[in-house]
Amino acid sequence: RAKEVGRSDWQLYSPLMDSETYKSYHLEKGLRNALLQDEFFIEYQPKVHTNSREIDSIEALIRWNHPEWGRVSPEDFIPLAEETHLIIELGDWVIQHVCKQLQQWKNQGLQIVPVSINVSSKHLLKSGFVEHVQQTLAHYNIDPSFIEFEVTESSIIQYEEHVKKVMDELKKIGVTFALDDFGTGFSSLSHLKDFEFNTLKIDKTFIQHATDKGKQQAITKSILYLAHALNMKVIAEGVETKEQLAFLQKHECSFIQGYIVSQPAAPQKIAEYLKKPFL
Ligand code: C2E
Ligand code: MG
Ligand code: MG
Ligand code: MG
Repeated sequence: RAKEVGRSDWQLYSPLMDSETYKSYHLEKGLRNALLQDEFFIEYQPKVHTNSREIDSIEALIRWNHPEWGRVSPEDFIPLAEETHLIIELGDWVIQHVCKQLQQWKNQGLQIVPVSINVSSKHLLKSGFVEHVQQTLAHYNIDPSFIEFEVTESSIIQYEEHVKKVMDELKKIGVTFALDDFGTGFSSLSHLKDFEFNTLKIDKTFIQHATDKGKQQAITKSILYLAHALNMKVIAEGVETKEQLAFLQKHECSFIQGYIVSQPAAPQKIAEYLKKPFL
């Protein structure tokens, strides 16, 4: 462990060095630095119409390339950023870069599609969030209907009323919302009623077991049924195999996202997809 630490950080060995606390301390320091050193970038993963494979929209996924550690997964650094103020700076960075990217694609003469941005409710609840989003969109001359925010159920649960208020304000200007990782949170059905999400994303853990004929399959079918009954757009995430695809076609899931269509990709690759919109 000690050799991972820069010279200036040398300290006497303590059992703490091997602990999670020690690891997250370094990760957090790294994160702060990463914003200053421009170590983040964004990849975009298409969502397509299940049958025609026409591109519908794309999801922005943040990437961190640390000069020594290499790629660090968002699964590792997002939860840590959420514990600090960093999630707000990071979220602002993503929103700004997505808008800038959309402007660039437009300037290249490409027909742009909506981009969804994963957003923490901590960020959503920051005072001035709505105004900040509006200003950023205006600055890059992007219509609000080209932005969708993906929020997870577990993240809205704590401050339901307040989150709903912010969502309503953004929806009024044309921004849309997706409920991400559906089925993994508390899945209170009242959320679907009260929050009026435009899109529901079925978590990939259900999709990956959708062909197992077990409980997960029953759940996936029920989610699809529910989404259709509520007139929501429904997307299956993490689709990898032909069997999963066939299952989703059979049960009329209109949109899919996953490695079977495309991995998250660099903006240049997305520009190619936009020119020839069937994947
Ligand atoms: P998510 O929003 O649910 O994103 C889906 C994750 O599944 C992504 O992982 C994506 O790369 C991965 N994925 C896509 N297709 C497949 C597939 O076919 N099979 C499998 N096994 N995985 C697939 P990633 O990029 O590592 O992101 C993980 C999570 O980190 C995201 O889950 C999201 O919650 C969070 N995250 C990513 N970017 C951002 C961001 O800009 N802001 C915030 N607040 N969170 C982010
Ligand atoms: Mg997402
Ligand atoms: Mg998800
Ligand atoms: Mg997720």
